[in-house]
Amino acid sequence: MASECLDPAGPAPSRRPIRHLYVHTPFCATICPYCAFYVHTGSASEMRTFVDALLREWERVSRDCPVEAETLYLGGGTPSLLPLDAFRRLAEALHPWEAVETTLEANPRTVTPSKAVAWRELGVGRVSLGVQSLDSDVLGTLGRRHTAEDVKRAVWTLRDAGFRNINVDLLFAVPGQSPASWQRTLGEAIALGPEHISAYELTFEEDTPFFKARAAGIWTEDENRSIEMYRTTFRLLEGAGYRQYEISNYARPGRASRHNQGYWKGNDYLGLGPGACSTVGLRRWQNRRDTERYIAALSAGQEPPREQEPLSEELRQRERLLLGLRTSDGIPASWIGGNSEAALALTRQGLGELSEGNFRLTPEGRLLADGIAGLFV
Ligand code: SF4
Repeated sequence: MASECLDPAGPAPSRRPIRHLYVHTPFCATICPYCAFYVHTGSASEMRTFVDALLREWERVSRDCPVEAETLYLGGGTPSLLPLDAFRRLAEALHPWEAVETTLEANPRTVTPSKAVAWRELGVGRVSLGVQSLDSDVLGTLGRRHTAEDVKRAVWTLRDAGFRNINVDLLFAVPGQSPASWQRTLGEAIALGPEHISAYELTFEEDTPFFKARAAGIWTEDENRSIEMYRTTFRLLEGAGYRQYEISNYARPGRASRHNQGYWKGNDYLGLGPGACSTVGLRRWQNRRDTERYIAALSAGQEPPREQEPLSEELRQRERLLLGLRTSDGIPASWIGGNSEAALALTRQGLGELSEGNFRLTPEGRLLADGIAGLFV
């Protein structure tokens, strides 16, 4: 089979090195009722077997694809659950080069002094903590087992181990969450002093217990409350010195996530692990969401089962435009094409601005990014 990295639509095989690498670890201690990622529970020995398979996939992929990763993102799932010996093998194999930014997603309860020191020694520079809320009622609704105390302890432990780049993931518009509770969570998160805060609006993803509860009328969505919470987020975080550089992401100067910026710019990326997606040139493929089959195929010396999606330049450009409009950099003004009237109208309404050759949406405009993108494609 031809290398996954060859671009069949290109004039010649693309050998541009890939700059972004994602690794999906599907294990979690428990499954949260709102989560639609490919995740499941597993024992330490299953995690070790999974890492064996992952290293086989990496061996195959790195033979075919030129990778010079600037960013490595260890996500999931909960990769911080991996036993240290397995994590060590993974990190050592993935670090033939020095990634500029290596991020590890961690559940607050999995952060121990010995793990934190080992992660740091193994090249992890950035930890993204799945906090979601610092209100015990909201954490209960979300099915999260950790407490606000666990979060504080995790941050201190990471600081003691030398981490100077910590992200805190938060969720708003959770059923039953009041604007006052969200405001308190934001204030307490700021007080923890992370370099980066991601604040996502909860979405009801298909096939989750949350989705079913909404379909049954147990929960309803309140768009006005979500907008109010988004505005509160912007006001409090910008006021505390964080800059909104994407609709859901805020960072101290110089601490924006380079990995996510790579996605939003439409750069190529490689994903390893069950359920992981890769996009190279005009090809996109996704490993099947099936850890057992993933392990079986790689143990037998075969490719993991995958689904392919052919892309067109037009589709990739549309994705870049939509993602770009959600960022504070915006899009090159040339992408607006013949639709400068629409851009001017948005500018007059205070939803967009043209400057330094770029068109960008204002924080209010970003709320409407999906609809506005339709004006330019
Ligand atoms: S910890 Fe994160 S990845 Fe795991 S089930 Fe909960 S939301 Fe999903």
